Amino acid sequence: MSNTYAVIGDPIDHSLSPNIHNAAFRHLQLDHTYIAYRIPAGELTAGIEALKAIKIAGFNVTIPHKIEMMKLLDEMDTTCKVIGAVNTVLNDNGKLKGYNTDMIGFLDPIKKKNLTIEGSQVLLLGAGGAARAIITAMVKEKAGKITIANRTQENAKELTEFAKKIGGNVDVAPMQEVDELIADYKFIINSTSIGMKNEPSPISTENISKNSIVYDIVYQPMNTDLIKKSKENGATIIYGYEMLLSQAACSFEIWHKTEAPYDVMKKALLGGV
Ligand code: NAP
Repeated sequence: MSNTYAVIGDPIDHSLSPNIHNAAFRHLQLDHTYIAYRIPAGELTAGIEALKAIKIAGFNVTIPHKIEMMKLLDEMDTTCKVIGAVNTVLNDNGKLKGYNTDMIGFLDPIKKKNLTIEGSQVLLLGAGGAARAIITAMVKEKAGKITIANRTQENAKELTEFAKKIGGNVDVAPMQEVDELIADYKFIINSTSIGMKNEPSPISTENISKNSIVYDIVYQPMNTDLIKKSKENGATIIYGYEMLLSQAACSFEIWHKTEAPYDVMKKALLGGV
């Protein structure tokens, strides 16, 4: 195998993963490189052949390839199978092994803060790929009722069916009705892409209080409108960058079989905070 790693997706030029992984390589004095490689939708098979030809050691997978990549794997772990998407691939002498580190990446910041999920009410905004990993995580950790709210009802229903199949206690609420329900939920999670373009919060923050835990998985910008207003109301905040770092650390450990230098990776991302 080569000592090159990559993240594939489209768009990919904004990816923060090369910064994070290359900082870890430098710190551990590993002679490795991590690059961003744009593979447009519809060109995945050719793109993966090219990566195999250069004996890529491993790669991360992001939008739009997380589901399609599953078909090109030789093996996959259970998490990858359950979620139905892959975000980490290890090239084991030509055999591509798939993993999904989004679930652990999502849970890790909650565990680090010693917050209890078991029996807690969860409001999940969004029903895309990331939401699937989050639902899987919340069901695994025995959350209480999980309410899904999403712009497209059809996608919310589909995610509900998936959640029920894996044993979740779930229902769907129309996005317009969510504001009145907020006080009933301990965890309020944004897994929509709202916030990436500095849009206003997808929900009213009026009823968010110090009893709420607000987790916005959008990581760019770090302080979304939802985060800023929830912080003002005294809520416990979990930032999208915390999930990004934890899933990156988990991918790192799959590839390198050694503990990821989390603080170094964090510094590379936040610039010394
Ligand atoms: P996705 O599969 O494309 O899903 C996007 C979700 O956002 C869908 O629920 C979609 O609703 C909703 N949405 C998009 N634009 C909207 C709008 N204008 N109004 C209302 N809803 C809208 O994407 P994904 O992979 O789940 O990622 C979602 C977000 O999470 C992205 O910002 C991504 O960067 C972030 N993310 C962060 C991490 C991390 O480590 N922090 C990891 C993964 C993803 P519809 O169903 O109605 O289209």
